[in-house]
Amino acid sequence: MENVLEVINLETSFELTEGSIKVLDNINFTLKSNEILGLIGESGCGKSVTALSILQILPRNAKCNGKVLFYNGKKIINILELNSKGEEIRQIRGNEISMIFQEPAASFSPVYTIGEHMVEAITLHKNISEKLAKEKALEMLEKVKIPDPKKIIDAYPFELSGGMLQRSMIAMALLCNPKILIADEPTTALDVTIQAQILYLIKELQKEFHSSIIFITHDLAVISQMADKIAVMYLGHIVEEADVFEMFKNPLHPYTKALLDSIPKYGVRKTRLETISGVVPDPYNLPKGCRFHTRCNKFMEGLCDVQQPKVVEISENHKVKCFLYGGTNDER
Ligand code: SF4
Ligand code: MG
Repeated sequence: MENVLEVINLETSFELTEGSIKVLDNINFTLKSNEILGLIGESGCGKSVTALSILQILPRNAKCNGKVLFYNGKKIINILELNSKGEEIRQIRGNEISMIFQEPAASFSPVYTIGEHMVEAITLHKNISEKLAKEKALEMLEKVKIPDPKKIIDAYPFELSGGMLQRSMIAMALLCNPKILIADEPTTALDVTIQAQILYLIKELQKEFHSSIIFITHDLAVISQMADKIAVMYLGHIVEEADVFEMFKNPLHPYTKALLDSIPKYGVRKTRLETISGVVPDPYNLPKGCRFHTRCNKFMEGLCDVQQPKVVEISENHKVKCFLYGGTNDER
């Protein structure tokens, strides 16, 4: 499989009056064609900022370093080098890489119909007539299995349920047949039955459209159904990366193990990560050494609170950032 996206040493920081805070540090991953990469972690760990950094839709006080390479046929484009308001990035956003968000209602303007949103999304990138654009929009609404698309196309967002709106947003995101779809917690706001239907739909469409997907969620049960490989994030770092089967069979990082332990078992629903003691530390005041050391049950004093572990490659498909597996500065 070829690479479609390669993120190299991505660092994102926000400039604030109190100083600068680094929310992403040394982020590295690749996304291959037809692959679904799951980004997982508790809220505030940097999953969404990773997505926004890739598309360069961050607030103005944000700064990114590193490389985000988008493989567009034979051309390799470093997205971070493009002018964030220029024509080149506009041609990529929504056309080559599109995004679906957690709250579909917030992504639609209340004063335009679903059809008007969709027609605009197409004509922004493709030189086709409005009539043709509307036909394409209808076709896509059928593909996402919206009942009665002819009626829905003229409906306003408030007239649709959350599930229908999310289907419409997926239809809109796929209109230009993007190479990459970034789905940021696309089902979190929906109830469980609708959630299952939407996940199934995304998988079906991925097969049909051959898109690669970055699927962001805090829900491991969801990711196990969706992803080919998983990257676990904690406080702006990727702490473990592996194929989905390997990750569930042989989790290595203490944080990943704790996340897996928090999956509800025997029908008992846990609402918190009970097995991880403590809370996520304040990003303004990041712990020295390994960022997970304040909560880790394998913490080694004098090491974990002093040095930062390097990423260790356990096998071709498995990497981990933890001293239990090597990664001290004295090595190599
Ligand atoms: Fe725990 Fe140390 Fe590994 Fe960090 S490096 S996860 S503190 S054992
Ligand atoms: Mg988020």
